[in-house]
Amino acid sequence: MGKFEFLWAGRVILLLLLLQLIPGILGWGKEGHYATCKIAEAYLTSDASAVVKSLLPSVAKGNLSNICSWPDEIRLNYRWSSSLHFCSTPDFRCNYDFKRDCHDTKGQENRCVTAAIYNYTMQLMTYNDSYSSKRYNLTEALIFLAHFMGDVHQPLHVGFLGDRGGNTINVHWYKTHWYQMKYKLHYIWDNLFIESAMKKLYSNDLGVMIKSIQKNITDECSNDLGKWGVCATIEVICPGSYASESIRFACKYAYINAMPGATLNDDYFYSRLPVVEMRLAQGGVRLAAVLNGIFGSKSLFCNIEITS
Ligand SMILES: [Zn+2]
Repeated sequence: MGKFEFLWAGRVILLLLLLQLIPGILGWGKEGHYATCKIAEAYLTSDASAVVKSLLPSVAKGNLSNICSWPDEIRLNYRWSSSLHFCSTPDFRCNYDFKRDCHDTKGQENRCVTAAIYNYTMQLMTYNDSYSSKRYNLTEALIFLAHFMGDVHQPLHVGFLGDRGGNTINVHWYKTHWYQMKYKLHYIWDNLFIESAMKKLYSNDLGVMIKSIQKNITDECSNDLGKWGVCATIEVICPGSYASESIRFACKYAYINAMPGATLNDDYFYSRLPVVEMRLAQGGVRLAAVLNGIFGSKSLFCNIEITS
């Protein structure tokens, strides 16, 4: 290799290294959060949709989906919020336990994504109570709730403590050149599944991907909508159940065949993509269900009464 080629290769490697450093600090990527909120918007009742629109800041241009990534963008300014995007289980434990798992890295209790979902749901429930609602910023509560409902459905946002939800597992994603760097497994689940699916299957168009996911949601109330939209208990929202599902999917799909240094390709991608798409759908349907439960005049979702 000549001197100039060597320098050029060095620059490429440096650039790729820098690009590697940027990801890994975010939740579902921008596309994942957009998809979850776009799916939710389609299932809002007219009452709930009107309240949501009235709470949105002007920058959202009337669409919740335009603003759902905001909590990732302000993470460095709102440092207190960074532990609210995820929760972790002890290594190799494939179940979620609120008491055991909902704390930040310093052990402070209730500092995790499921507690945040409860908290912002409770804040939004004060909407019709002019005295209590003044205590909260309901615009922020709505955006945080919409964002965290996405995060809790990303399986590796409820991953193992020891690998920080796949953030310390570095693997190749379709390695085709010797210089291709590794990605964090967490970043692959946040971003690269959706990016690759758009390229391979959906004409590089997120709107086409979302429409395809929506088509797969069986809208008979006895199926997906009815099952996903309500909790097993009378609660309006059950983030503990969503987190339990996530860690089970992480154990069964995300971690399997993704040892450090492995190359993940079509086998891994096509066998896990249905899980990624279903989690985006479930996040959206459940977000709509809870917003309908809070803001809908009849508190109905799919003809099933949600007790609030
Ligand atoms: Zn997040």
